[in-house]
Amino acid sequence: MVSKEEVVKVIKRVEKRVQEYKLPITTKVSKSNDPFKVLIATMLSPQTKDTVTGPAFQRLMKLADNPQEMLRLSEKEIEKAIYPVGFYRTKAKRVKQICRILLEKHNGKVPVSMQQLLEFPGVGRKVAGLVMIYGFGKTENIPVDTHCHRVPNRLGWIKTKMPEQTEKELMKLIPKKYLKNFNNTFVTFGQNICTPQKPHCWECPVNKYCKYYKEVYLKNPKKKEK
Ligand code: SF4
Repeated sequence: MVSKEEVVKVIKRVEKRVQEYKLPITTKVSKSNDPFKVLIATMLSPQTKDTVTGPAFQRLMKLADNPQEMLRLSEKEIEKAIYPVGFYRTKAKRVKQICRILLEKHNGKVPVSMQQLLEFPGVGRKVAGLVMIYGFGKTENIPVDTHCHRVPNRLGWIKTKMPEQTEKELMKLIPKKYLKNFNNTFVTFGQNICTPQKPHCWECPVNKYCKYYKEVYLKNPKKKEK
């Protein structure tokens, strides 16, 4: 089992390395300190590249940056603003439904509660976790997406099949002070270095700590991308 010291060492190296890449949209939006904006950005981002989500989010915010204004827009107007994000029609509908709930049940404010966020239509554990961390700075959960699931498994920190299991195991391994940036750091790392297909192990700053590198990559040089 990996030690917490090694986990911290790897996280620090990965954090340093990803500084050369663009920040995920949620990190940029979190600087606004506006949980509503974080909620909308995270809702738009699934199944969509950040290069598409970012501009779509900006277009929508120019039309409406709070629940009241958003409800004045028609679904068609929201669709037009966020196109071509993946599932833009469904997402436009969800944005309106959520704004209505925010106004009717939460005084127009995003609730600081994982449980209540999960009650919103279309909001799963990942989106709710991202809002808690990047909207409110709460670190009781780790939002686990495909990158945050894959990379720790490749490193050999955990052996899990489902994101829920991954979240539980990572909560035991990662010291609290590193939780806040964990998602953004590992998403960026997973998009650029530890990619799903043909990870760039030869240039990875943590390959000497990685199980996949020792057990798969070194034994099969064809996995090298170039
Ligand atoms: S060595 Fe390869 S598999 Fe391991 S973390 Fe780095 S890129 Fe990912």
